[in-house]
Amino acid sequence: MGLRRPGIYKSRDEMRSMVRPGLLTAESLDAVAAAIRPGVTTRELDAIAEAVIRAGGGVPNFMLVPGYRHTICASVNDEVVHGMPGDRVLRAGDMVSIDSGAEVVGWNGDSARTFVIDDPSRPDVVASRRRLNDVTEQALWHGIAALATARRLDEVGGAIEDHVESQGRFGIIEDYTGHGIGRSMHEDPPVFNYRVSGRSPSVKPGLVVAIEPMITSGTIDTVTGADEWTVSTVDASDAAHWEHSIAVHDDGIWVLTAADGGAAGLAPLGIRPVPIA
Ligand code: MG
Ligand code: MG
Repeated sequence: MGLRRPGIYKSRDEMRSMVRPGLLTAESLDAVAAAIRPGVTTRELDAIAEAVIRAGGGVPNFMLVPGYRHTICASVNDEVVHGMPGDRVLRAGDMVSIDSGAEVVGWNGDSARTFVIDDPSRPDVVASRRRLNDVTEQALWHGIAALATARRLDEVGGAIEDHVESQGRFGIIEDYTGHGIGRSMHEDPPVFNYRVSGRSPSVKPGLVVAIEPMITSGTIDTVTGADEWTVSTVDASDAAHWEHSIAVHDDGIWVLTAADGGAAGLAPLGIRPVPIA
């Protein structure tokens, strides 16, 4: 276990190559977002994301993961991550996390958003799920904002943990983490969603990471389903998941998987993203 990991830092040209896959990943999520409604199946959402990525000249990079044959993961309610698209019909009141990724000329994007479908007959359920979703999305933005000023990568997890703890009783999943991203979707280093001890990689130009808090309304214990993919909470509590891929470069940070580079999400936190020149 070397303490120095020079291999995790990318050149400016390499980071520029990650702009297109990042934007294409965002476009695929925009298209899925527009199609989410009661009655749609997760398989239909998968087809929409795949069509957008292929039309943009990309390859759905989840299909490059051995054994996975879909473009997105669609994780509903108590499912945390890795939900396999299929015949499941989304219903009013459901919350669904959509994780998508595009590879373009050998470089990768990875991003996830969670949506809550309105259900006027169950306002309490909807309010509680929207609250969980908001806490999770804001945990992501707090983590990204921390990255903008961090000296060490573990400050990201500290910021996520602090935000979540400040919002009430929620669980931060520990079984899965964020990760470096580049020529592969999953690279070193791991990006924890909570405070860790020990030496952590330096945050400096060339670091490109996917930050992805997974937050529950109950336990942090998970179980993998019979399909060998779908991860759910063991107590059936709800879970939300938000993710962006972010580049640290000479002039600042840039959220590769947000059309505005993260400007809207980061503005309330006093951070202005800077395009990679
Ligand atoms: Mg992802
Ligand atoms: Mg990821």
